[in-house]
Amino acid sequence: MPRRTKVVATVGPATDNLEVLTQMLRAGVDVARLNASHGTIADRRRRLQLVRQAAQHADRCVGVLLDLGGPKIRIECFREGRVQLTEGALFTLDTALDPRAGTAARVGVAYRDLPRDVAAGDTLLLNDGQIVLEVERVGATAVETRVRVGGELSDRKGLNRQGGGISAPCISERDREDIQFAAEEGIDYMAVSFAREAADIHQARELLRAAGGEGRIVAKIERHEAIDNLAGLIDASDVVMVARGDLGVEMGYAELTGLQKTIIHQTIARNRVVITATQMMESMIQNPVPTRAEVSDVANAVMDGTDAVMLSAESATGRYPLKAVEAMVQVIEGAEKYQLSHARSRQRALEGQFEGTEEAIAMAVMYTANHMKLSAIVAFTESGATPLWMSRIRSDIPIYAFTRHEATRRRTTLYRGVYPVTFDVTGHTVAGSLYQALFARLLELRLVRPGDRVILTRGEQSGVQGGTNSMQILRVALE
Ligand code: PGA
Ligand code: MN
Repeated sequence: MPRRTKVVATVGPATDNLEVLTQMLRAGVDVARLNASHGTIADRRRRLQLVRQAAQHADRCVGVLLDLGGPKIRIECFREGRVQLTEGALFTLDTALDPRAGTAARVGVAYRDLPRDVAAGDTLLLNDGQIVLEVERVGATAVETRVRVGGELSDRKGLNRQGGGISAPCISERDREDIQFAAEEGIDYMAVSFAREAADIHQARELLRAAGGEGRIVAKIERHEAIDNLAGLIDASDVVMVARGDLGVEMGYAELTGLQKTIIHQTIARNRVVITATQMMESMIQNPVPTRAEVSDVANAVMDGTDAVMLSAESATGRYPLKAVEAMVQVIEGAEKYQLSHARSRQRALEGQFEGTEEAIAMAVMYTANHMKLSAIVAFTESGATPLWMSRIRSDIPIYAFTRHEATRRRTTLYRGVYPVTFDVTGHTVAGSLYQALFARLLELRLVRPGDRVILTRGEQSGVQGGTNSMQILRVALE
């Protein structure tokens, strides 16, 4: 059985080398993430080309996820690049200050509405919660705070309000340029940062579609409001990301583990795909081996049933991007030997009503797969919808998405237990060469042996989206 849980790796300065990137893809990266929070569109275009080149070198199908910067609130810069904040000192966030004139007493903030969004008594967090400020007084353009937890603070660090409530719109002006880029480049997944509610996801999808993009939309769950609107956000999106960095800051880190499990469980139950992200192998930014706590964290996400785990700075700017991928793959493989997750319950296929023919077929397949000795499930698919339905149910049988569409192959790289295979069904008929071509392809790729039993799903009319209406159990013939 191949590795089921997928690996998303952020590309960045540490992967700006064709050889390194090719090795990372060979080591198991399924989806490459471009982070629009840093660098320019030209950087992202260059990195995307490198990913595509490396995918060819590695002979692997790799999906691409563009992560929009979103309305992340940041402080501006310090005169000296950094300051030391001491506990008990006063520190002012000043929307009217020269962006380069920060000192240990005050710093600029580009977000003009900050004084409107906060009130005396609020807790503000800088640099992912490393520095804690308590708001004492709010003026017309400045927010005066008392330092509760001090430390070093440098330019452009992020600012969060505990409990959420920053009202900046979810899609920023800069994001619109990235949406254009995503459409032009045929990006597979586009992530919406700081999504609050379903409407944010609809807006992102509409903007992408208007620009001509077909990419699927990822809702990053990273703010308080998103937790309040979780079901609606999941239903509006195609994929959900447990964005533990900002989520831990806004909710308090003690909530994170429970939230992670809840989000994963709910996302799968609502037939969407889920990525678990941020600080999974954090110490590998500096070190060639992960800590035991990190090993355990990745393994637990796998056991929770996540579709994918993600590397951020570990792969984008760390010292050991390849080793981080290798370590993650090893941990996934180790964890997948244990069947502890209840996230994808065998019972689910028998509960409730099916939405349509494709789901009904997919559930029948998974029920059969879990009660019969089989080597593979093959879905002839146009959009990838049938393998997506199937992969929401736990099983040990690999699901091969046979498709002629490159975009569909790249999309299915993210689904747990699903593997894309190039196959043009429209060239064959049932009466003619269809089964021989299917068996030949399976044998050529060494996915099955002659005599093995496989399940096939397909539509009566080949090449029609949404047409899957049959399931067959076949024995792989020799020849
Ligand atoms: P970021 O999102 O890396 O873009 O901040 C992920 C997170 O907040 O965990
Ligand atoms: Mn974030």
